[in-house]
Amino acid sequence: MARTSAPSLTNPIPSTLRITFGRRLRAWYGRAARDLPWRRTRDPYRILVSELMLQQTQVARVVPKYREFLRTFPTLRSIGAATPARVCEAWEGLGYYARARNLHRLAEQVTRGGQRKGTLPAHPAELRALPGIGAYTAGAVASFAYETRAALVDTNVARVLRRVFAPSLQPRTAAGQKALWRIAEAILPRSGRTAWTHNQALMELGALICTAREARCSECPVRSCCATALRALPAHAGSRGTRKRTPATPSP
Ligand code: SF4
Repeated sequence: MARTSAPSLTNPIPSTLRITFGRRLRAWYGRAARDLPWRRTRDPYRILVSELMLQQTQVARVVPKYREFLRTFPTLRSIGAATPARVCEAWEGLGYYARARNLHRLAEQVTRGGQRKGTLPAHPAELRALPGIGAYTAGAVASFAYETRAALVDTNVARVLRRVFAPSLQPRTAAGQKALWRIAEAILPRSGRTAWTHNQALMELGALICTAREARCSECPVRSCCATALRALPAHAGSRGTRKRTPATPSP
């Protein structure tokens, strides 16, 4: 079932491969997904906070900080009404304070002046216009908060998509990034609700099974669809594994 050549406009992913991959991936997610607090909400603000925290920080460190931060700032309005220094203080322990400063700027923009009635937009293009929101975060908030049918590619997703559909692809090049976003869009289920599960499952597979440190193909639910497993290529790279959710370079 697996393919070995990179998908392209003239060489699309066969529908049987796309459908089987998606079904197996989502079925596995139903059995194996971690119970994480941001998966229990559709509140766009809470989803955004979790995504910003996860960009540079491991899940285990984010969970308690996420809860503590939301006790201090339970809404986007409460962030917008605070000083940047107070938001950075509540962010302490996570580092990369640009994320906190951007969150404050975003909250001010969205909640002041009657813009958007204090709510985050549901479409990735509108989300990307806000401070500190890149392509990945826009897709994540749209999909995980609003169940908008939106693709997303972070480092975990990029690794899985490359290994399954295009092992020869160069992920660090602009062309490689574009190709990964095209693959993510091509395999996205039609329904936004199913796309929510699909996107969560792709990230979970990259965090738990198809990691940077090792590809545990014998345990992988999509191995029959995977070009890397089929070719028995040494599954790559990265001497140090991570479960951090670093956004992949945004697609144009
Ligand atoms: S079969 Fe192996 S290389 Fe392919 S997605 Fe699964 S873990 Fe990754």
